[in-house]
Amino acid sequence: MPTMKAVVKIKPEPGGAELQDVDVPTIGADEVLLRVQATSICGTDVHIYEWNPWADRRIGAGRLPQTLGHEVAGEVVEIGSYVKNIKKGDYISSETHIFNPGDLQSLLGQRHIGKNMEILGVDRDGVFAEYVMLPERVCWINDRCIPPEFASVQEPLGNGVYAVLGEDADVAGKSMVIVGDGPTALFATGVARATGVAKIIVVGFSDFNLDIARRMGADHILDIKETSLDERHQFVLEQTGGYGVDISLEMVGGEVPIKEAFTHLRKGGRLTAFGVASEAQVPIDYNDGIVFKGAQVYGINGRKVFDTWYRMRGMLAGKRLDISPVVTHVMELEDYEKGFEMLTAEPRQAAKIVLFPDHSELKAARERMDEKRDMPAAD
Ligand code: ZN
Repeated sequence: MPTMKAVVKIKPEPGGAELQDVDVPTIGADEVLLRVQATSICGTDVHIYEWNPWADRRIGAGRLPQTLGHEVAGEVVEIGSYVKNIKKGDYISSETHIFNPGDLQSLLGQRHIGKNMEILGVDRDGVFAEYVMLPERVCWINDRCIPPEFASVQEPLGNGVYAVLGEDADVAGKSMVIVGDGPTALFATGVARATGVAKIIVVGFSDFNLDIARRMGADHILDIKETSLDERHQFVLEQTGGYGVDISLEMVGGEVPIKEAFTHLRKGGRLTAFGVASEAQVPIDYNDGIVFKGAQVYGINGRKVFDTWYRMRGMLAGKRLDISPVVTHVMELEDYEKGFEMLTAEPRQAAKIVLFPDHSELKAARERMDEKRDMPAAD
């Protein structure tokens, strides 16, 4: 049995994971074997790595050992006998919500929130490895002009695309507040810019990340270290003719940011709820915040399969969206511990970190990043 390197969560306790030699997975008839070219670290991986209460509840000790990771780009090296549309050599990424085609939601075009879906790296072995097996139905063919370090982060970028566009993609010429400065909020800022949002206001606290938000196209940055909610609301009103924003994205989770996202929203506007609150019960002003406001409140989980992927590929391949400011670091897969340390350090010093199992692929990614840095900034 051939073996491969994989980053495996071993014990249901804090203290990380181990780089191990494990068997290369054997694929089923409707699956493909992917050679991982790039994989990126997500907040979810940090929760599992640290084994917080969510990981203990959601995954449970019984499923360990399990390979970490879900964000991926790579090359198909083997296909099962029933695989029809994916070929050996295809360059793909994976939708991480592995939907059950028979779910009511799947039948109605809501596959991303199917009742019986599995999540890669959460409910089954993930992608922090040299190889991973994937069902054909979640494979998405990338445009080859999108480098692996960008193709890998399309999973959280897709969250940003869906959060910005919502259900109707009616955003051009409108105003938007993005509450939060984590990687998905930074991606959302770039998507908002690329899709014609006319005024983008980002609310956050990390100097490192807010600088990235500026480079991703935010028109205004509101630092919560320096301003009160009331001051920020006054600013939003001044910027929107006294009405509040058309669209408000909540991308933190938590009582204060949720309140903030509702506060800045104008009557008749749309609020996208993406951040996951550590306390699920959060008081909101139901009457004035939703009912009398005529607010449309949308929960966003995942990406629209495959509408989001299609638009995202178009924006990246068509060079309408540059996500390079958010992809701050690339490193070897075996340096994952350093990656996790950087992502949990305060103050923040990294946004998205991409890992490469293969040294030559990492070298090529470094060269692309250096080249980009040396280029004069376009105006
Ligand atoms: Zn992710």
